[in-house]
Amino acid sequence: MAELPALAGAEERAMDVTRRDFFRLSASAAAGTAVGGLAGLGVDLSPAVARAQALRIKDAKAVPSVCPYCAVGCGTLVHTVEGTIVNIEGDPKSPVSEGTLCPKGAATYQLHVNPNRATRVLHRAPGATEWEVWDLERALDRAAELVKKTRDETFVERTADGRPLNHTLAIFSLGGATMDNEWNHVQQKLLRGLGVVAIENQARI
Ligand code: SF4
Repeated sequence: MAELPALAGAEERAMDVTRRDFFRLSASAAAGTAVGGLAGLGVDLSPAVARAQALRIKDAKAVPSVCPYCAVGCGTLVHTVEGTIVNIEGDPKSPVSEGTLCPKGAATYQLHVNPNRATRVLHRAPGATEWEVWDLERALDRAAELVKKTRDETFVERTADGRPLNHTLAIFSLGGATMDNEWNHVQQKLLRGLGVVAIENQARI
């Protein structure tokens, strides 16, 4: 692979690293990347970074989108090549975030492309030591069965002095920050209808 000119220059500069430079480099690398460390030595990496960025999204189609994680709603650009996502980054045209993303939003690409992402329902029965793969229908039926059973056993219609209560304290709902408005609307209607009062979201915790 051809060596990027700015990085070749960086090697020469690195020969003269002083103790002070070393600590500066370490701090920069700890805060960001090896590129950040080289930049800490005063090496102008902008041509190399710009070229690497250009290669990464060369021939890609850019689609404006919104970060799925929290209510700030930072703008993203999703780059695709032949229908496959190759990169997601901040959208400079977004009036909300002007091209910036927090670390979580900056990792959105890994939400989509990630070999460690769970794609199957895994169930481990009480006392079992091994996970069992369940199909989604079976898992949903089991969740519904347990919600109904728990509600039937714990629902309280009235307080001790006879006032209407209609709740259960035995069911808790924890939502994720990637849930959209429509999902949250339906989830609230369902849970409030069941009498669940403990409803929380990961983004607030
Ligand atoms: S998670 Fe971060 S990048 Fe995403 S919308 Fe919230 S602040 Fe913006």
